Amino acid sequence: MGVLVAPAVAVHAGAGRWQLDPETEERLRKLIRDALEAGMEASRSGSALDMVVEAVKVMEDSGLVNAGLGSTVDLSGSVSMDAGVMYSGTGRAGAVAYVRYPRNPVLLARYVLESTDHVLLVGEAADRLAERLGLSRHPGPAERVRRAYEEAMRRARAGEVPQRFYARSLELWLRLFGPGDTVGAVAVDSGGELAAATSTGGVFLKMPGRVGDSPIVGAGFYASKCAAASATGIGEFIAIFGLSRRIVEAACASGDPVASARRLVEEFTRLFGSGTAGVLVIDGEGRAHGEYNTQAMPWGYSAGGVVRVLGI
Ligand code: ASP
Repeated sequence: MGVLVAPAVAVHAGAGRWQLDPETEERLRKLIRDALEAGMEASRSGSALDMVVEAVKVMEDSGLVNAGLGSTVDLSGSVSMDAGVMYSGTGRAGAVAYVRYPRNPVLLARYVLESTDHVLLVGEAADRLAERLGLSRHPGPAERVRRAYEEAMRRARAGEVPQRFYARSLELWLRLFGPGDTVGAVAVDSGGELAAATSTGGVFLKMPGRVGDSPIVGAGFYASKCAAASATGIGEFIAIFGLSRRIVEAACASGDPVASARRLVEEFTRLFGSGTAGVLVIDGEGRAHGEYNTQAMPWGYSAGGVVRVLGI
């Protein structure tokens, strides 16, 4: 590292079923392209950390995916969000969990990384910090999320779905939606440093207080000097497995991010079943790959003037 390389960025919009009407699919493709463009734009004057934060911020602001404005709700109908970032340039990570105040949890996670001695801040205290920092305030659940919640509650009251949560809500959620549409980005900058960022509203109908993998270093995100990864899927399984760190370490050891992601997602699937996870990985040469055991995981990459959208 330390030599000049071409910057590259990749983003994902979450592993899941993604049954999309043509109009929403077009919006999603555009969102991925916009996020990639924001990442590449940031690379002109900034680092891999700037690249992943700007890319994720675009997705948080879209309202289309399960992060920031589009965040899903828990059993009580409330939004609570998790996000994490890591940057090989400083070897530091920053994350926030169970936050409700910031519209862009990724910005608060970045603040933790750059301006505190800590890795993870949670709940009300983290929200107060966001307010003090003057970050924009989250307006509460988006209309489409509110409608999904009301529909799930209507069906629960009609006895159509199990009422005993959380294990069953997970079952219900998988049946109705598949894993959610958490967002993430990984990047390498022109100095050869890498970064990863992940942001999510968590899983639909989670127990209030639940935190997933997304703000856990090594689970939902990880970046080293030779690879970076962002994970999506059932957070409980991803945290137990340590998905992002294991893929980064395997990619660094083998020099092959694609084969490493495939092998580890296969192992993950043997343990937890299919329809459970996806991961986006990039190495120091800008080779990016999205691997998932769900029906889809929209992702894209941009490097050297080439922009591609895949996984839909
Ligand atoms: N991993 C996220 C969580 O469990 C959800 C997702 O990726 O859709 O909170």
